[in-house]
Amino acid sequence: MKVEEILAADNKYFMPVYNGRFPLYVDYGRGSKLYSKDGKSYYDFLAGIGVNFLGYDNKRFNQALKDQIDKIIHCSNNYYIEPQAELEQKLCENSCCDQVFFANSGSEANEGAFKLARKYFKKKGSNKFEIITADKSFHGRTLAAVTATGQEKYKKPFSPLPPGFKTAAFNDLTALKSIISESTAAIMLEPVQGEGGVYPATQAYLSGVREICDQEDILLIFDEVQCGMGRTGELFAYQNYGVQPDIITIAKALGGGVPIGAFLARKEVAAAFDPGDHGTTFGGNPLATRAGSEVMDIMLEDGFLAEVKSKGAYFKTELDKLVAQSDKLIESRGLGLMLALEMTADLSAQEITNQLFERGFLINAVKEHTLRFLPPYIIKKSEIDLLLENLSDLIIA
Ligand SMILES: *Cc1c(COP(=O)(O)O)cnc(C)c1O
Repeated sequence: MKVEEILAADNKYFMPVYNGRFPLYVDYGRGSKLYSKDGKSYYDFLAGIGVNFLGYDNKRFNQALKDQIDKIIHCSNNYYIEPQAELEQKLCENSCCDQVFFANSGSEANEGAFKLARKYFKKKGSNKFEIITADKSFHGRTLAAVTATGQEKYKKPFSPLPPGFKTAAFNDLTALKSIISESTAAIMLEPVQGEGGVYPATQAYLSGVREICDQEDILLIFDEVQCGMGRTGELFAYQNYGVQPDIITIAKALGGGVPIGAFLARKEVAAAFDPGDHGTTFGGNPLATRAGSEVMDIMLEDGFLAEVKSKGAYFKTELDKLVAQSDKLIESRGLGLMLALEMTADLSAQEITNQLFERGFLINAVKEHTLRFLPPYIIKKSEIDLLLENLSDLIIA
């Protein structure tokens, strides 16, 4: 198809939820760059929204997928699946959890976590059912996940929403305590909030929440769909804090681009599920779990995540230098390669993002005055420098 034909078909046949797409007609990717069918190319500092951590066309990863495709792509969960078993083991042995369930997306992983939390208390004969989440959180687009999301704009059009969800201010233990009740089953938090504008939890907050959960018999769920799987320079974001949750949800980078989500739990919690309580057609299929298994091998290689940490620290230091040079910049935030630049009301994030697009860089305007950067972990320092030069040119010069 010619680019004009793609545009026309999309306008006519695709539901208008992504109206205002950038004029990038994705053809292929190589390294940190995406190539458009009109011959232009872009350094990708969004990486499929934190998915493509290997960038594009990683030969080892591609070969693993090709091998798997030649064996089998899908079979039902009525049978044992070798790559699923491999991924189960790798995830559990490298986390504070003991058992895992595979879904297809972040939203679905969160749905499963809600079900598990409710079943856990039901099985104990308790009537706790409520889930507390944080303001500015994002937990997905399915009806329960969007209800859990602490941002009105995502859920308002879809009321009435399912009952049993409440939100409290993030990084505020007093606010949290004030809404905990006898019905509270679980508290779900992103250790680093993503869609809300890249806000890391404070150490005191996460430690305090863990303490409250222990005292009140409440489950702690970390939604690591965006901040997990190496994004912060640790395999799981909770490892930056030394605070262990009872349930973890992951997705985005887990499949390196192949759709897969998962939730993990401590053994006593996972044991709440009885046969038939949960299930899925696609979740954990041979292709998706082979992808996840290869992803784990790559991430656990010596020095791989240390690089994420050091490149992230470099990127943040350089952003701070820009902040020091301009009164239109307020602060940089984030952990590892999950970063944001907060600007004053004088600067529109969308405008800067559009200008960078014209210059061949993909970033994200996560809020009206906030830029977000989620580059692939293989991003080069020289590529970070190139982006920063252009950013500096637009904002400071
Ligand atoms: C993206 C995201 C989700 C939803 O994941 P989908 O795969 O889009 O359903 C949930 N939680 C967080 C923190 C996310 O960033």
